[in-house]
Amino acid sequence: MGDDFYQKKSPDPVTDPYLIHFNPSVSQLIDLNISSESESEFTSIFSGNHPLPQAFPLAMVYSGHQFGVYNPRLGDGRGLLLSEAHATDGSVWDIYLKGCGPTRFARGFDGRATLRSSIREYLAGEAMHSLGIPSTRAIALIGIRDLIFRDRPELAAVLVRFSDSHIRFGSFEQPHYSNHPEKIPKLLDYAIQRHFPDINDSADKYRLFFREVVQRTAVLIAHWQTVGFVHGVMNTDNMLITGATFDYGPFGFLDRFNPGFTANSSDTSGRYAWSKQPQIGHWNLGKLGETLVSICGASALEAELNEYQPIYNQTFRALMGKKLGLDLLDEEFSNLVGRLFQILSENPADFTNFFRGLSNFPEGYCDSLYNYFPDKKVLDDWLSLYRRLLDREDQDNDLRARKMNRANPKFILRNHLLEHAISKAMKESDHSEIDRLFAFAQSPFDELPECLAKDNFDSQFYYADTPQKFIDWRLSCSA
Ligand code: AMP
Ligand code: MG
Repeated sequence: MGDDFYQKKSPDPVTDPYLIHFNPSVSQLIDLNISSESESEFTSIFSGNHPLPQAFPLAMVYSGHQFGVYNPRLGDGRGLLLSEAHATDGSVWDIYLKGCGPTRFARGFDGRATLRSSIREYLAGEAMHSLGIPSTRAIALIGIRDLIFRDRPELAAVLVRFSDSHIRFGSFEQPHYSNHPEKIPKLLDYAIQRHFPDINDSADKYRLFFREVVQRTAVLIAHWQTVGFVHGVMNTDNMLITGATFDYGPFGFLDRFNPGFTANSSDTSGRYAWSKQPQIGHWNLGKLGETLVSICGASALEAELNEYQPIYNQTFRALMGKKLGLDLLDEEFSNLVGRLFQILSENPADFTNFFRGLSNFPEGYCDSLYNYFPDKKVLDDWLSLYRRLLDREDQDNDLRARKMNRANPKFILRNHLLEHAISKAMKESDHSEIDRLFAFAQSPFDELPECLAKDNFDSQFYYADTPQKFIDWRLSCSA
């Protein structure tokens, strides 16, 4: 693509890298297997200590709007696109190292990533993917012995990220705002060939590119909303054109249903609260659209952007239909959903466990749901509305319950669970909780992940509502 868009750079060496976790589900996609003999070679290459043969590692240029304000000076400050990998099904993936030393975009920072934040990203990508939500994932998490300094000395790691793309909305903003509009068609052509080959031969391909990104972003955010995912830092440099969840920092999943919940403690205005995410997605797409005006014309882009809300609404409605086990998505259904969000916001119901419990209605019993409602009548009134809509559909209750249990996870990656795993890893060098959370994250809809069935442990700890002291817990960007 040319060095207008990147800096060529090799990863910096690290001290005594050690493999914390390896993700066979991802590595199998690209036929990469490790054995006890090859583990140290793998760790050495993917920590950055040895070059990957024929790789051309590079740091990508990008800028972006952070909290609504344009920042021209971003770019991969601590990450490198190491290589592309071809999967057995013909798809192409980026292998990216995060935390492998400062690049020319590091702005004085150390180019490293904390073990804490790397554990979070490693597990979060797998959790989102397993929930059926597009996301970057990781092949491996590698610890390094070099201490890094944040508020205090911290352990560090290199995350081996696996993603369909690393092209951000901010990748287009950088040439646009730095007065290099001639670079944008080049980037568009590359992005279309790599990610949207079906539109490559169309005379209208740039407009169709924007249409694709609008659609994918709307679908992505509808998914986020229905599992209660709060990204925390929806800056335009953290949005991928392929519509996958990207750049896990201070994210969180809703504990109780609190629409104003912001996962990021630096977000004092609540810009990135759960309830704002759909409109922020639209705003971010508007910023991407601005970079394409001279190519596509403002009115064409506006017409595409106007499709965002209908696509979002339609996807949200379909996903809510699955959560509630209803197929008929008419006005009565919308009223039911509207009323449900109202009663959930007025009562301290755990978002995940409420929906999971609902699949027991009406055949089994869902007594546990009443615990969330000081006034039982509030829930009874809603359940009788719900029953009426269920009765309209004449569905088999067992079948519906099974389907609902594939739409409403039993396990969600709560921040206090992550904190527990991080604390064991940092204080005791014990990575067993990472292994366990990984197993839970990969099987969110099961009653218990099969691989944990024989272990003797308290599974309720992982499925229970968030303990009071961790409810609406927020993290900072550096955590
Ligand atoms: P993030 O919060 O990870 O999206 O990062 C925002 C920007 O800061 C990106 O340009 C990163 O590459 C850069 N950055 C964050 N932390 C570091 C670090 N420790 N060293 C170098 N650059 C960093
Ligand atoms: Mg980022």
